[in-house]
Amino acid sequence: MLSPALLTRLRAVVGADGVIDRPEALLVYECDGYTLERAAPEAVVLPRSPAQVSAVLRVLHDEGIAFVPRGAGTGLSGGALPVAAPVMIGTSRMQAIEAIDAANRRIVVQAGVVNQWVTNAVRADGLCYAPDPSSQPACTIGGNVAENSGGPHTLKYGVTTNHVLGVELALPTGELVTLGGAVEDRPGYDLTGLVVGAEGTFGIVTRATLRLVRAPEAYRTLLAVFESVAAASEAVSGIIAAGIVPGALEMMDTLIIQAVEAAFRIGLPTDAGAVLLIELDGPAAGLDPQVERVSAVCRTTGVREIRVARDDAERAALWKCRKRAFGAVGRLAPNYCTQDGVVPRTRVPDILRTIAGVAERHRLRIANVFHAGDGNIHPILLYDERDRDEVSRVLAAGREILEACVALGGSLTGEHGIGVEKMGQMPLLFGPDDLAAMTRLRAVFDPDGRANPHKIFPDAKTCVETRAPRRQAAM
Ligand SMILES: Cc1cc2nc3c(=O)[nH]c(=O)nc-3n(C[C@H](O)[C@H](O)[C@H](O)COP(=O)(O)OP(=O)(O)OC[C@H]3O[C@@H](n4cnc5c(N)ncnc54)[C@H](O)[C@@H]3O)c2cc1C
Repeated sequence: MLSPALLTRLRAVVGADGVIDRPEALLVYECDGYTLERAAPEAVVLPRSPAQVSAVLRVLHDEGIAFVPRGAGTGLSGGALPVAAPVMIGTSRMQAIEAIDAANRRIVVQAGVVNQWVTNAVRADGLCYAPDPSSQPACTIGGNVAENSGGPHTLKYGVTTNHVLGVELALPTGELVTLGGAVEDRPGYDLTGLVVGAEGTFGIVTRATLRLVRAPEAYRTLLAVFESVAAASEAVSGIIAAGIVPGALEMMDTLIIQAVEAAFRIGLPTDAGAVLLIELDGPAAGLDPQVERVSAVCRTTGVREIRVARDDAERAALWKCRKRAFGAVGRLAPNYCTQDGVVPRTRVPDILRTIAGVAERHRLRIANVFHAGDGNIHPILLYDERDRDEVSRVLAAGREILEACVALGGSLTGEHGIGVEKMGQMPLLFGPDDLAAMTRLRAVFDPDGRANPHKIFPDAKTCVETRAPRRQAAM
């Protein structure tokens, strides 16, 4: 239990309203978007500035207390779940956009700035921040940095690490260090690159210097309708093989099309086996020929219909369906778990067949909406958390799907991170020496293991099942 004296010290740093410790208020923080495991922290601390983060961490360092960083809590791998970390440090009050340098195309923001706000802040300059997770109206830059987040447009523009020039990191001791910065090319080790994707295990990112890109002059957004996922997958490979790199190349299967259409009613074909959302962007002059080439490829794989958005409103409607697809899933089941795995692009049909088999074997419904161009799958496993047997089957099915991704030459995560969800599967990709080397690297930043403990690495001493009191099914 945290002592009253400690809470008093924390309140002295962040103000009385910056520390939450009422049990009913803490329930909000008991999970992120991965709801299969839950554990409330003993206190949530909400600093308003990097200096306050530093001061909070100094207090915790004095007392040897572990902490878990949290942005908006939209993470999908349980990264912000408190596991043996009594204090949660939320960045939601750190919302300052500190500097915009449009001429040099960069921006400095505090960690709690919401992803979408970055593009909003520079739109008038003809610029944008390229990584666009579907959660972009809510998720924070700190969370994006921690997870190395992607999004529909990362096929062409890259993931977060390609757009972070530098970070300010509050080490677990409270010391603020600056890594990287405004200058593009720096000698020495790429420490910024290390922090991106570290899932909060090095400390708390307090500020980030982000790269901005010129917003495309024009877009062509196509909806290609197929009878089967296999035919749509062939089209994906064909488009890339033709030398075209769309801004986005997203797939939705029947179940998700039906959910999205029920939610948004824009006339999606609910009897289709799969649809591809294909976005071409760049100079206006070159786009129509690309539409022709993409359409020709789709015709070779048996496309049933191709619709091209006629104006911004139609484009926005298509993107609303894609980006709010997870929300629409609420119509299908009381709960769902979004998986995140990667396979080589050409193996997409194989993994989708495997997923269908896993769904049948475990008597589950699994919907698929994903970044097909990257081979980054997102099977959505539907369940009802009141049915404990079904929860067990969801966990088993999720494991099998990830094992299949690795067996096909892929990876455990494309963008959602390892968190608590997948730490047990890290040995599928890494040997004991690799894991030990990574643990030693982490210790350079966090020698006491107090920053987001028991995440990423399989941990023989403390298994998450015993630490997360509301774990709903045995692994
Ligand atoms: C509907 C929906 C759609 C999504 N779509 C996508 C998508 O398209 N692409 C994608 O990549 N992800 C997606 N996600 C997952 C999620 O939005 C991202 O992982 C996002 O980056 C998390 O940001 P957050 O602010 O919510 O972080 P949180 O969930 O609060 O935290 C995530 C992790 O980051 C750590 N962390 C948070 N802030 C900091 C900080 N300042 N310093 C150090 N560590 C920190 C936490 O400890 C935790 O480990 C989606 C999620 C939802 C719910």
